Amino acid sequence: MRAFQLVEWKHPPELREVPVPEPAPGQILVKVAGAGACHSDLHIMEAPGPPPGLATELPFTLGHENAGWVESLGAGVTGFTLGEPVIVYGCWGCGICANCRQGRENYCQNLGGQGPGLGGGHDGGMAEYLLVPAPRYLIPLGTLDPCQAAPLSDAGLTGYHAVKRSLHLLGPGATAVVIGAGGLGQMTIQILRALTTATTIVAVDTDTGKLNTAMHMGADEALPSGDEAITRIKDLTGQQGAELVLDMVGIEPTLRMAAQIARTLGHLTIVGIGGGALPVNFTSPPHECSVASPYWGTLPELMEVITLAQQKRIRMLVEHFPLERANEAYRLLHDGKIQGRAVITPHA
Ligand code: NAD
Ligand code: ZN
Repeated sequence: MRAFQLVEWKHPPELREVPVPEPAPGQILVKVAGAGACHSDLHIMEAPGPPPGLATELPFTLGHENAGWVESLGAGVTGFTLGEPVIVYGCWGCGICANCRQGRENYCQNLGGQGPGLGGGHDGGMAEYLLVPAPRYLIPLGTLDPCQAAPLSDAGLTGYHAVKRSLHLLGPGATAVVIGAGGLGQMTIQILRALTTATTIVAVDTDTGKLNTAMHMGADEALPSGDEAITRIKDLTGQQGAELVLDMVGIEPTLRMAAQIARTLGHLTIVGIGGGALPVNFTSPPHECSVASPYWGTLPELMEVITLAQQKRIRMLVEHFPLERANEAYRLLHDGKIQGRAVITPHA
């Protein structure tokens, strides 16, 4: 089969011919319908060597945001029918530590506190078939189209997890700011809209197209990134700042902005892996403003994300690319030219 693989650090991935994996007992083979191209893959491709927390062996197949159809079942696997559409939970933990047993395989205690996940060391879904090590990682999609649904497993799940841990702050009159309205940001805006009724949602981005999309996705305001956004958010919140600031970029300027627009007792949540650092002292971020850097999300949360999509409360703007155009999809993502999510469709 064809697989889009990272062969060498700091080199563009290559489309290579590899054997179709055979599911061993307890495993499942998934025929890939869609594999989302995430900005994290660009960070991996641009890294000089294995990023911290990721498995290190090259080559491996990219793609940690996958959905498809059950192709074949290893011995002992029951409960799935062949051809059934499923989404793949991507944080593959040990399954037996305390965090894994609670569904938090994103924080597996036996894998350094952060599961490496597929497509980041394990072979991912940018191939015709994907080997999934255990049935618990597959969630039936029902009537959802797996070519459209793939981004729910990362862009959707990561945004959901980041919002859910701060939900208690988002009562009527509260403000939530999403910095970076790309793949993750657009999902997060819709999730905020679906989970909170009377919270003001503000999107901040450098790109006019993304700001327009953010408004369509449920933002109350969309502001160009910079000092004027800071002033506007201060004005909107009676100079107090926002209860929740989600930085989906994570570079120095966005982190600095986040610290200025978060309020006392608020949450400043760093989701973006842009490599910036946030200076912390007694007065900045504001007093008792918690800073967190959530990684991906939990299995139960992915089930909730699927429910939101089935209820048509969230959807991803998807642009499809065949496997042979995967490098082009990433180039467009790098250049900010993907409006929502690029999804590779190996069987289209
Ligand atoms: P994307 O490229 O689709 O979106 C990024 C958005 O940020 C774009 O809309 C871009 O215009 C905007 N942007 C860039 N510079 C900006 C600035 N200075 N101010 C405001 N907006 C700016 O990327 P994505 O796939 O949504 O990923 C976003 C980030 O989240 C990446 O760093 C990715 O690695 C990270 N990520 C983290 C997790 C996690 O578990 N924490 C999971 C997935 C992705
Ligand atoms: Zn990702």
